[in-house]
Amino acid sequence: MKEKKMSVFKEMACHEFEQVIYFYDAYTDLKGIIVIHDTTLGPALGGARIWNYESEDEALFDCLRLARGMTYKSAAAGLNLGGGKAVIIGDATKIKSEAFFRAFGRYVQSVNGRYITAEDVNTTTQDMAYVAMETNHVVGLEGRSGNPSPITALGAFYGIKAALQYRHKTDDVSKFSYAIQGIGETGSNLLRYLVEEGAKKIYVADINQKNLDRIRKSYPEVKIVEPNDIYHQEVDVFVPCALGGVLNDETIPKIKANIICGTSNNVLLDEEKHADMLMNKDILYAPDFVANAGGVINVYHEIHGYKRENVIADVKLIGERLFEIFKISDEQKINTQHAAKVFAENRIKSVKEIHKNFINR
Ligand code: NAD
Repeated sequence: MKEKKMSVFKEMACHEFEQVIYFYDAYTDLKGIIVIHDTTLGPALGGARIWNYESEDEALFDCLRLARGMTYKSAAAGLNLGGGKAVIIGDATKIKSEAFFRAFGRYVQSVNGRYITAEDVNTTTQDMAYVAMETNHVVGLEGRSGNPSPITALGAFYGIKAALQYRHKTDDVSKFSYAIQGIGETGSNLLRYLVEEGAKKIYVADINQKNLDRIRKSYPEVKIVEPNDIYHQEVDVFVPCALGGVLNDETIPKIKANIICGTSNNVLLDEEKHADMLMNKDILYAPDFVANAGGVINVYHEIHGYKRENVIADVKLIGERLFEIFKISDEQKINTQHAAKVFAENRIKSVKEIHKNFINR
């Protein structure tokens, strides 16, 4: 017990976590952790995921990793939000009930607005409706910001345009070709944006036959390839919209595209190593947490009164931010993933600096 506590504080010190909260409700058997990584820019926002973790340590480390990721994502997206996350331990098919989520909502409320929750893996907008009965600090509710996927895809679309502009001095998407991995919620919307802007040569792959049938019907001109063949297509842009970890030792050598930009989270298997591999192959990689920030931008606007036009304006800025990050990467000769972190850290640091003086409000 003593040893475990030590490791938590060591981990907190190593990456400057502000707060780790364990919660347990005896009646519903709700057990989980809220991690608040950094609130320099604003309240720590991050979804609540349910997962059957093998151990409490596994849950803790997942929560720490995800909360820290949210700090970078929101900072790079220009939002006044910090990074946080909640994990709930258990089998999502067995533990859910109204009381269970209301109990969770009470723990969220007890943090007094330092943490804002939302749906995530194995939680739904309906679950969050129960959470909202006990706390105001929840976003992504039914009837508010709505489905984030089209907005996430739009952000990645602006990311592709920025990368084309940076690499080829034009953002005319019709002049280039694309390989989209995964045509689910975000991939199919991104495909639509590309087709609407005149893109003609597009390859797609998916493991879900229903999704492929839908695409075949709506876009007969789009070529469908086997999942393993999507990496080596002769295209300008590789667009990952499926799983994490797909850019690795095995796949990077296959890639012919000289730009990578999509919606997938944690797309690099090993952040530093594989971002370096891409840089050495002269592939312009749009860091995932910058390119796919449309979803968090969408829910952020719920906090201040949701207006679609404001969301779209903020999502458009993803392209400008990526352009800045590409420049930092070239100027400092560091990979783009590292450059994106420098960009986010600089913003946090600058706001910390201007908050040093006392002002009566
Ligand atoms: P989704 O489940 O709707 O779509 C993913 C698609 O990928 C599915 O059609 C699935 O069949 C396909 N797929 C899975 N394995 C594959 C493989 N090996 N090869 C080809 N296709 C495969 O999910 P989504 O909402 O579109 O999210 C896609 C990615 O974007 C995820 O990594 C997600 O975390 C990330 N993301 C999504 C959002 C959002 O708003 N939905 C926001 C930020 C990040």
